[in-house]
Amino acid sequence: MPPETAKPTGTRGAVGTAVPAAPDHAAPEGPGAVAAAVAGARVAAEWWAGLGFAGRRRALLAWKRTLAGRIEELAAQIRAETGKPHGDAVLEVMLAVEHLDWAAKHARTVLRRRRVPSGLLAANQAASVGYEPLGVIGVIGPWNYPVYTPLGSISYALAAGNAVVFKPSEHTPGVGRWLADRWAEAVPGPAVLQAVTGGGETGAALCRAGVDKLAFTGSTATGRKVMAACAETLTPVVVEAGGKDALIVAADADLDAAARAAAFGGFGNAGQTCAGVERVYVERSAYEPFLTRLGELAKETRPGDEPDARYGPMTTPTQAAVVAAHIADAIAKGGRAVVGGPASVRPPYVDPVVLAEVPEDSLAVTEETFGPTLVVNPVRDLDEAVERANASRYGLAASVFTGSGRTAAVLAGRLRAGAVSVNAVLGFAAVPALPFGGVGDSGFGRIHGADGLREFARPKSVTRQRFAAPIDLLRLDRRPAALERASRLFKLRHARG
Ligand code: NAD
Repeated sequence: MPPETAKPTGTRGAVGTAVPAAPDHAAPEGPGAVAAAVAGARVAAEWWAGLGFAGRRRALLAWKRTLAGRIEELAAQIRAETGKPHGDAVLEVMLAVEHLDWAAKHARTVLRRRRVPSGLLAANQAASVGYEPLGVIGVIGPWNYPVYTPLGSISYALAAGNAVVFKPSEHTPGVGRWLADRWAEAVPGPAVLQAVTGGGETGAALCRAGVDKLAFTGSTATGRKVMAACAETLTPVVVEAGGKDALIVAADADLDAAARAAAFGGFGNAGQTCAGVERVYVERSAYEPFLTRLGELAKETRPGDEPDARYGPMTTPTQAAVVAAHIADAIAKGGRAVVGGPASVRPPYVDPVVLAEVPEDSLAVTEETFGPTLVVNPVRDLDEAVERANASRYGLAASVFTGSGRTAAVLAGRLRAGAVSVNAVLGFAAVPALPFGGVGDSGFGRIHGADGLREFARPKSVTRQRFAAPIDLLRLDRRPAALERASRLFKLRHARG
C-alpha cells in the first residue's frame, strides 16, 4: 500500500507554476480519523433520515445555493490544487450543481413508497415498494474533477437519505474540506457530510470502517484494491474507474464538428478526463480530411497557466511519464506522430499529440493514457470501427459522428459502453437524469439519475393482506380441493398462453 502522500498546503509540486496558492488548510487527518468520522456519521444518518424527503430537499438546496453563490471561490480552490484553467473549474462546478439540484428535487419521486400490482395469485394483497437509506456511505474521490466527480456520488447518496464520509484525493484535499465546511455552515446540526483527508491508507481505512456502501471513483487498479478491502466486511461497492473511450467518425459525418469534438474530448483538461476521447476510428474515405482538420486544431491549442489557457498542466508528475511512455511505444511500434511527439511532454505541461495509424496492440490503444494525446486510426467500415472500439477492456463512454440518425442508433446499440454521445462528446455529462457508469474495467454501479439515487438506497417490499384469499394455499391445513382448483387455474394461465 502506498504511504500517505497528501501534500502540505499550497505546495502542490506537480504543477510548479504560477497558479494561485492553495489556501491554508490543516494537515491531512489520515486513517486514524476515519473511525470517529464514521461513528459520527452513524448518528447523523438517523437525524438526516428522520428529516424526510422534504426536510432533506430544503437542506440540500441550501447547500446548493452556497456552492452556486460562492462558485468563484470554489473554482479558485480547484484551480489552486489541479492547475486547470479558471473557466474549466467554473464549468465543473456548474455541472456538479445541476446534478445536486436534480438529486435534491427528484429523490422523493424516485424513492418514495409506491403501490405495485400484486398479481393474480396475491390479488388479496396490497403490495408496495419503498427505497430506504442505507445509512453511512463512504465516498473516495479522484483529483481530475475534484467537485463534479465525487458530488456524483455525494449528492445522490445524501438525497437518498444517507450520511457521507468523503475521502478526497490527496491531491485535492482543500476542495474536499471546502465542500464539507460549506455543508456544515449551510446545514447546521449533526455532521451529515464530513471530509477526511489523506492518501491511499485513509481510503483503505474507510473501506474497512463498516460503512454501508463504498462509492469509489479512481483508477481501475485502485478499484481492485478497494473491492478486495470491502470484501472483508461484505461492504457493497460502486466502482467508477478508468476509460479508453473511442470516437467513431462515419464518412457522412460533419468532419469539422467531429474534429472539434475530438480535440475537446482529447485535449480538454489535459486529457485527464475519465470519459475523454483517447481513440478515434475514422472511415477510410474521410480519414485524411479528418486528420488534416484535427491537426490544424491541435497545432493552435496550447496548454498554460494563464486563466484563459486552453488547458492546464498534468496534475501529477507520474502521469506525464505515462503519457511519454505511451507516445514512445506508439512510435516504436510503427505509429506516425502527425502533431507533436516525445518532445511534447515538457512537465508539467504536455502539448497536444496526434498519433496516426497506431498498431492496436500499442499501449496508446490498450491502456488509459490520461493525457492530451489522440490515436487516430482508419477503418474499412463502421463494422470494423465498432469491433475496434469494443476490443478495449474498458467501456466507459463512446461517441459517434454521422449524418444518419439510423446509423447513429445502430452504432449506439452496438457499442460496449455505459454511455454513447451522438454528434457530440460527453453529451451525457450535463443531463442529470441520465445514469453514469461503466462496463468491464471501467467499473460497475451507476451514479446520477434515478439509478444513481437507487444505488444508495435499499428497496423494501411490504404487503398488506386486504381480505382472505378465496383459494388460500399459504396455510398448513391446505385443502386438496384448493390445490386442485389452483392447479387448474394455473394450467389455464400458463400451459396454454
Ligand atoms: P487513484 O486510483 O490513484 O486514486 C483515487 C482515490 O483512491 C484517491 O482518493 C486515493 O487516495 C484513493 N486510494 C488510493 N489507494 C487506495 C486504497 N488502497 N484503498 C482505498 N483508496 C485508495 O485515481 P486518481 O489518479 O486520483 O484518478 C484518476 C483515475 O480516476 C483515472 O483512471 C480516471 O479515469 C478515473 N476516474 C474515473 C471516473 C469515473 O467516473 N469513471 C471519474 C474520474 C476519474
